[in-house]
Amino acid sequence: MEIEKHYDEIARCNRCGFCQVACPVFRSTGHEAGVARGRLALLRALIEKRIEWNRELEEPLFTCLLCGACTANCFPAVATADLMLDARSEYLDRVGRSKLHKLLFRHILPHPRRLRLAARAVAIGKRSGLSNLAQALGLLRIFGRDFPRAAEIVERFPEKTFREEVKPGVVRGTGDLRIGYFVGCGTDIMCPVAARATLRILRKLGRTVRVLENCCCGLPPVTYGDRTAARALAEKNLAILAEDEFDVIVTDCSSCAAFLKKYPTLFDEDDPRHEAAKACAQRMRDLVELVASTGGSPSAGQGEKVVATYHDPCHASRGQGLVRQPREILRSLPVLEYRELPEADWCCGGAGSYALYHYDLSRQVLDRKMDHVARTGANLLVTSCPACIIHLTFGVRQRGLPVRVCHISELMVD
Ligand code: SF4
Ligand code: SF4
Repeated sequence: MEIEKHYDEIARCNRCGFCQVACPVFRSTGHEAGVARGRLALLRALIEKRIEWNRELEEPLFTCLLCGACTANCFPAVATADLMLDARSEYLDRVGRSKLHKLLFRHILPHPRRLRLAARAVAIGKRSGLSNLAQALGLLRIFGRDFPRAAEIVERFPEKTFREEVKPGVVRGTGDLRIGYFVGCGTDIMCPVAARATLRILRKLGRTVRVLENCCCGLPPVTYGDRTAARALAEKNLAILAEDEFDVIVTDCSSCAAFLKKYPTLFDEDDPRHEAAKACAQRMRDLVELVASTGGSPSAGQGEKVVATYHDPCHASRGQGLVRQPREILRSLPVLEYRELPEADWCCGGAGSYALYHYDLSRQVLDRKMDHVARTGANLLVTSCPACIIHLTFGVRQRGLPVRVCHISELMVD
């Protein structure tokens, strides 16, 4: 949708500046262009044709973390992150799109096997030192101008992905529900331990659990403004999610969960896919939400007492309103002493693949998070999004903190 159609929404910004205090980018840079008020002023100037669409817009349009913190602190609740997505989409149409993104979003993400092969190639490159050579030759910049530095974020890849161990299909459980388990790409490739834990939890809650043969939910292309690619991915997923086989569809990636709940916004109301998207959204549950609503069985209660704290993924807290639930779960685990993390709902700086293009900014945002983590004295940092797990693990490693980062599912099994 063209940004011009949102002129009235953009004009609701009264320039009060209350968003400044909540914006991780503004708090890092102090630049007005990085805060919602500045971003909205830019969009207004574009619509009023006081400035032109050109490559210089890439920086201001793409430095937003899309965390939504500004909207939560804004009296008129201007949805700046959503407006930025529309502006990015128009930017791609008017100024041009990256060939690499086109290849990734349209030819790799729809096929989980291709994505796993690509990840395997990166892992082999890292282990063998080939990526260092490619880096030295400047070849890796095609993955993002800051890729050479961002590559250090992932120290090593797990030996096997979840899907290499667990094939799609139905497994029996001891509960009552018919569950579809949507396996996010990040969970599959980077957090297989969390995925295995999730499957064990789902088998307690479900009579049947179908490990779905889903592809990427579509969030990565949307964040880069490629709605066409996101729609194609959603359509592919809806073909399996719209079946009436499930009482609930569950994912342990809060980013996937939030985006799957937004599937109806991808299609016009008179589009036949809109109804299927609505049906999918209604049955969609974040794992945390399902466990909390069923009074599930978070049972890990053995071992030495551990001090734990919790980081709210933006897509869990603001994306789905899941704030109370993860804390209740953690407080119910006898093995944990829970301590609240200051600014727990501030973005960690991960924001998908943000660091590939904005490494320094991403580090600044992460540093603030790590200051708070260190202050809690916790030795376990819990969250519910693979992208956050990757970024927080990097932060802990950089600081040399004696902290293990894990997915909440890993704590809910004995
Ligand atoms: S808080 Fe909202 S209304 Fe106030 S300047 Fe920021 S975006 Fe505009
Ligand atoms: S969405 Fe987040 S990063 Fe973007 S302007 Fe709002 S607070 Fe700042």
